[in-house]
Amino acid sequence: MNILVFNSGSSSIKYRLFDMSRVSVIASGVLQRIGESDASLVHKSVLADGSHQSITRSQQISDHRQGMQQINAVLQQTSLRRDSPPLRGIGHRMAHGGSMFHHPTRIDASVLDAIRQLGDLAPLHNPASVAGIEQALAAFPGVAQVVVFDTAFHQTLPPHAYRYAVPRDFAHRLHVRRYGFHGTSYQYVTRQAARRLGRSSTSLNLIALHLGNGSSAAAIRGGISVDTSMGMTPMAGLVMGTRCGDLDPAVVFHLLRHTDLTPDRLEAILNRDSGLLGLCGHNDMREILELAAAGDDDAQQAFEVYVYAIKKYIGAYYAVLGRVDAVLFTGGIGENSAPIRWRVCQGLQGLGIVLDPDRNDACPPTGGSVHAANSPVAVLVEPTDEQLEIAEQTLQTIQGSDASFTPP
Ligand code: AMP
Repeated sequence: MNILVFNSGSSSIKYRLFDMSRVSVIASGVLQRIGESDASLVHKSVLADGSHQSITRSQQISDHRQGMQQINAVLQQTSLRRDSPPLRGIGHRMAHGGSMFHHPTRIDASVLDAIRQLGDLAPLHNPASVAGIEQALAAFPGVAQVVVFDTAFHQTLPPHAYRYAVPRDFAHRLHVRRYGFHGTSYQYVTRQAARRLGRSSTSLNLIALHLGNGSSAAAIRGGISVDTSMGMTPMAGLVMGTRCGDLDPAVVFHLLRHTDLTPDRLEAILNRDSGLLGLCGHNDMREILELAAAGDDDAQQAFEVYVYAIKKYIGAYYAVLGRVDAVLFTGGIGENSAPIRWRVCQGLQGLGIVLDPDRNDACPPTGGSVHAANSPVAVLVEPTDEQLEIAEQTLQTIQGSDASFTPP
C-alpha cells in the first residue's frame, strides 16, 4: 500500500513515496529552481536489494504544473510502474490551517476553496502548497488526496494561550491569534517518546523542542498541545536560523519610521536575514559552533542568544504544565547537537532536569534517553519524521472517509 507525500514550496517540490505495509521509503526526490531555465529533478528509488537508483534531470520547468507532470513521469517509469503496488493516496503538507482545520482533511473542491482563503493568513507559505495540490490533482487523477496542516496539532490550545491582548475585533474579524506550527513533527515525536518511555501519550506532560532551521517549543499536557512558541506566523518564539523570533512589536514601527524599508521588505528581512544569520552571519549551527570554539565573538553571542531563548521557554512551559515527565529534543539541531542540548539543560537541575554528559555525547542518530539516572525529568532525543507522519495521517484519513466520500 503506497502513499506519496508532497511538500511544495514556491520554487521547489519535495516528495517521498512510502510503502505503508512495511513503513519504508521506496522513493524520494526533490525538484528545485522551478521557474528557472535550469530546474533540476533528483529522484532516488530504493531497489529490492536496498540499493539506490538515482535519476537526475535538468531542464526548464516553468511552473508547478510542469513540475508535477515531470515528477509523475519519473515515478511512472520507476516506483509506480504498472506492475508496482497501486498508489493508495497522496498527502500534502500545508503550513497554515487557520482555525478551520483541526485534522488532516480529504481534499475536495470545497476544501480547496477554504484553503485558498487561508492564503491571507500565510501569504509566504500557503500559496505554494495550494499550487502543489492543484497540480497534483491534475497530474494524479482519481487518486485520493489529503491535506495535513502544521497548525492542526495546536488547535487544542486554550483561549488564554492563543489570544493576543489586542482589540477583540482583530481576533474576530481578522483571525489574529496564535496558531503555532511544527505540529506534524510534535505529533510524531510525542508518540515516539511515549513508546520509548513505555507509557501512553495521554499520560505524558512534555516540553518538546523542535530545533531546526526553524525552531519552536511546545507545552504538551496529556499528549495534547496547550501552548507553543510560534504565533500567528512561524516568525515568533525562539531564535531561528534566519527568523528573528520574539521581538517587541514597536521595533517594527521604529524601523519603518527610521529607514526606507517597505513593510514587505522588512517582513522579508525578519524572516530571511535575521535570527542566527542576523546575529553572526551564519545560520548553520555546525559552522556557528566551530566559529564560537575558535573564539569568534559574534558566533559566541549568537550561540548564547539562541540557548537563552530556549531556556526561557523551558521555564515558562514548566510553569504552564506544573509537572513535566520529559524534555524532548528534535529537529536537525536538537537531534544532532550534543553541545546545544548540554548548554540548554545546564543550570536546570533545580527543575529536575539533569543531563548525563556521556549519554548526551554518545546519543545515536536513532535517538535515545540522555538524562542522568537520578534525573526526575527524562530528557529524550527523538528524530522527527514529518513526511512519515503525513503519510500515516493520510492513510488513516483515506481509510476513515472511504465509505462516505464522493469524489468532487
Ligand atoms: P532541520 O531544519 O531540522 O533540517 O535542521 C537544520 C539545522 O540542523 C541546520 O541549522 C544545521 O546546521 C543543523 N544541524 C544538523 N546537524 C548538526 C550538528 N551535528 N550539529 C549542529 N547542528 C546541526
